[in-house]
Amino acid sequence: MIAPWLERLLYLAAAVLFIIGLKRLQSPDTARRGNQLSALGMLIAIVVTLVNQAIVSYGTIVAGLAVGSALGLWMARAVKMTSMPQAVALLNGLGGGSSLLVATTEFLHLEQRGLVATLDVAISTQLGVLIGAVTLTGSVIAFLKLQELMSGRPITFAGQKMVNALLFAVIVALGTWVAVVPGVPLPVFLPFVALALLLGVLLVIPIGGADMPVVISLLNSYSGIAAAMTGFVIRNEVLVISGALVGSSGIILSQIMCKAMNRSLSNVLFGAFGATVTAGAKSAAGLTVNTTSVEDAAVQLAYAQQVIVVPGYGLAVAQAQHQVRELMELIEKRGGVVKFAIHPVAGRMPGHMNVLLAEANIPYDRLFDMDDVNGEFERTDVALVIGANDVVNPAARTDPSSPIFGMPILNADHAKRIIVLKRGMSAGFAGIENELFYDPKTQMLFGDAKGTLTKLVGEVKQV
Ligand code: NAP
Repeated sequence: MIAPWLERLLYLAAAVLFIIGLKRLQSPDTARRGNQLSALGMLIAIVVTLVNQAIVSYGTIVAGLAVGSALGLWMARAVKMTSMPQAVALLNGLGGGSSLLVATTEFLHLEQRGLVATLDVAISTQLGVLIGAVTLTGSVIAFLKLQELMSGRPITFAGQKMVNALLFAVIVALGTWVAVVPGVPLPVFLPFVALALLLGVLLVIPIGGADMPVVISLLNSYSGIAAAMTGFVIRNEVLVISGALVGSSGIILSQIMCKAMNRSLSNVLFGAFGATVTAGAKSAAGLTVNTTSVEDAAVQLAYAQQVIVVPGYGLAVAQAQHQVRELMELIEKRGGVVKFAIHPVAGRMPGHMNVLLAEANIPYDRLFDMDDVNGEFERTDVALVIGANDVVNPAARTDPSSPIFGMPILNADHAKRIIVLKRGMSAGFAGIENELFYDPKTQMLFGDAKGTLTKLVGEVKQV
């Protein structure tokens, strides 16, 4: 056993490590170290907790650790970068599920012994159950939608919001009953758990698959709040602190994503975005696009003094990050400057493009945030748009009827020439036409980004 003062000191050290670790995640240069510091904090917290609980047999704990670590290792290696959002959804669900289990166990423990919890513990227990259950089933639905095991389209029905509100009211009533009235029997507690699980499903089904990253970030926040509640139940300060950190950072991230998409959180949660074909967005009927060839694009890139690459979701789909690095190196060898313009919601998860480009060892100093690079496009010979669509759509500036109106975009259309790499004329996430593709300065280079970039690299070498 550890002396109580030492236990508190070590928990405090763990909490400080979590906070410094989070702070360091702010920049790609320090993120790796930040991750390690947070992991060290977690190790300290786990060891102190395990040593200090007067555990009689460690057998099941060691078995659980072994199975969990093996699964975690396999998942980290096997999951593709494009499947990361659904992997995070599952992990959030597991976090919520653990809080649900711990809080339920505490309730059953007291119930079996005929003991009565103090009001604060009773309230925390029921909140842990409620938020943990919603997080668990909500995350499972988010996973199923993103993995395309169920339709990604919003599932809506008449009176849905009313049904959800009623369900929530019944859950609050049952939860309050269980928390406030001592000795409430199991037949009241079990429906409370079942309805909370159902609420998680009903809250997430009306949300479209493409909005899932925001939902996942929100569920991540919920899993943190559930963990913090569980911390109050089992009186573990470090669990309260780490839960609160996850809870607050998850909600901040959700807000940042919503802001970058120019949507409110309530519009994401209740707007059923993608349920119907968007009205009002301009149609491209009658407009024609200019196409170009690999040879021609290679010449333009080879002689450009400055090229700004705009990566988007399609780059991640094509897994063409290594080919982009090769192209960057070739242009730079010829004296050209290459910059990467990173839109905050390019791709399908926060930091998607940063992670993708880092995987190909593209130096961080070539990556520029939207605000830092937008003024540069005017001086740029070629904006090379690779698998990006919505993040360069000028309708966000000019078309008030567009669903993305008001969203800040990358000024690719201000460049002297724009070369767009995509497979066809399909829309992006927002499902709308992009006038940029019809701009006289724009040349479309159709094909899978990986194949096209491989050919471009070969051609630039010949120029
Ligand atoms: P996007 O608007 O979704 O467009 C991606 C484009 O990539 C598509 O038009 C597609 O056209 C092309 N593409 C797909 N596979 C390709 C391949 N193998 N090779 C070449 N091109 C390919 O992507 P974005 O510009 O990155 O914008 C992201 C969108 O996601 C935004 O609307 C944002 O609001 C939303 N979103 C982002 C987040 C986040 O956290 N990052 C979260 C939620 C929502 P073709 O099929 O014709 O090739």
